[in-house]
Order: sequence, then C-alpha cells, then structure tokens
Amino acid sequence: MLERREYFPNVIEMNYQARQRLGCCVYLLYDGPDWMLIDIGYEETVPEIVELIRQMDFPLSNCKQLVLTHPDVDHAQGAGKFQELVGGAEIVAHPAAVQPLAEADRISTFAEIAAQEISLSLQPIQVDRTVDEGDILSVGGVELTVWHTPGHTGSQLAFRRNELLFSGDNIFRDGGVGAIDAHHGSDIPAFINSLKRIQQSDVEWLLPSHGPAFRNDERLLQQAIDRLDAYQHLSDFGTCAIDWPLLDQWEEELIAGSEPDWKQ
Ligand SMILES: [Zn+2]
Repeated sequence: MLERREYFPNVIEMNYQARQRLGCCVYLLYDGPDWMLIDIGYEETVPEIVELIRQMDFPLSNCKQLVLTHPDVDHAQGAGKFQELVGGAEIVAHPAAVQPLAEADRISTFAEIAAQEISLSLQPIQVDRTVDEGDILSVGGVELTVWHTPGHTGSQLAFRRNELLFSGDNIFRDGGVGAIDAHHGSDIPAFINSLKRIQQSDVEWLLPSHGPAFRNDERLLQQAIDRLDAYQHLSDFGTCAIDWPLLDQWEEELIAGSEPDWKQ
C-alpha cells in the first residue's frame, strides 16, 4: 500500500501525492472507503492517477462522483477514461457545462486555439447530475457546499468545506486569475463578484485548480479585483470590456475641435 499524503483532513491532492506535477489539481475527498474527485485533468495522466488511488487502497468501485469545476479541456478531458477505469462514477457539473461537454465544444473548452496551433482531442462527456449554488455534495460524512462562481467561464464552480474552499480557476497563489477570453464565456463583472465573494467570506484556505493551496488573503484578492475592475474599461480583453471611456473622451475632443499637442 502506498502511504496517503493527507493534504488537508480528508483531502488528498494527486500532484502533491505523486510529488510531481501531473496537470491541474485533482482533489480526492474521502470518508472511509468512499471517495470522490474534483477534476481529473488530461486523459494521458488518468491511468497514473487511478493507479495511485488504487495503491492508496481506495476501492475503485467506491468512487461516488467525479465533479468538474468547469468543462475546460485541461480539467475534463480525462473524464471518459476515468469512468472506464473505475467502472462507472457519476459525472457532476454545473448546468451550463452540460452542453459544451456533451458536444465536446472545442472552442469554449480551449481544446482548439487555431491561431496558436493548439488542437487537443476531446470526446463527448455526458454529465449525469448537475449541481448549482447551494447544493450539497457528500461522500460519507464529508460535505461540500456548491458555490457558483461565474467569471472565468459561466459554469465555474467552487466547493466549500468548513474553512476550505476548492476554488477552481477563480484565483491562484500568484494573484493571477483564470484566463479571461470572450470565446470562453468570460464575464469580467461576474468575475469581480465571485472574487469579492471569496474575499469577504470567512474561508481560510483556498485550494485552487492550479498550483498550491494558499491562505485567503484580502490584499491578494483586492489586487485581482482592482486589476479586473480596470480591465472592464480598457481594450485589453476586447469584447469582455463593459465600456471604453477613451472613445467617449475622443468623441468629446473631436466635437470640441481639439488639436494634437504639436500644434499648440
Ligand atoms: Zn484551469
């Protein structure tokens, strides 16, 4: 048997367990023999992850569910392979994730970024159960409260367990946030609200979908909120902005007959 490296009580994280970067964070929550996963990552790492789980003495057939924080290819691609290897396991996601997963939507999942010659395989994934804000997910006596935290994408979920928040792609330890991309359904005002919710909560630890866990730090969250607040009014993220004050200023200057500096 492989010794379990407990990341937090009743929580194992597979990259931490392997002491090796496998991909996105794959959280295993357990109570007795029953377990569930939050995200699974790319298909190529699924056999290794399942083997580690087996070696840690979790009966594969006791997997209650694989919950997807959102349908991005780097979080969900391995879902089908995972189901195959553990002999079933319910796939759980937000209602807005159902269609992109079922249709293996290559654009909104980042499987296809043609301009960068990124083209990853993605098989259709059938969601067995949807969860939304306030729902409870449980494995044995371990309960998670579902938070709907749109912004990075409309279907982004986070999961609270006491002082822990499995925070998805909302924010990472370096203060970065999940990619803002119009084709991905990113919504900056919604993102700001999700970050404020995390900031104002009494959650103590954030367990993100990429990188290490970190403390819920008001200043780190505020820096991200301020940055996104600026992006709402700048061209940096194109159609994700809500307005562009520069163009209003320009219009006023045109009407007023302003001249370039060199003429003054
Ligand atoms: Zn991600």
